[in-house]
Amino acid sequence: MTEETLLAKNYKKYEGENIDIYFNLEVCEHSGKCVKGDNEVFDTERKPWIMPLASHTERIQEVIKTCPSGALKYKLKDSDEILP
Ligand code: SF4
Repeated sequence: MTEETLLAKNYKKYEGENIDIYFNLEVCEHSGKCVKGDNEVFDTERKPWIMPLASHTERIQEVIKTCPSGALKYKLKDSDEILP
């Protein structure tokens, strides 16, 4: 999957220094795993609600892998691969 494909599917991009995060509200199941997993990066009380903090790069990848719906994806800056 490419970034173009994700954006065409209505994913929104949240750009960070080391990692970019993509999110699609239409796909989200509101399980809250992201918010519980890292509340400094994912905070629905804040705008923007996703902040891809450089110091949380490892944690962000772990948390996004627990998203049950596929609403969250990420891409490391030094890679073209969109995961998971
Ligand atoms: S973990 Fe995924 S499905 Fe659950 S609230 Fe976050 S984005 Fe939505």
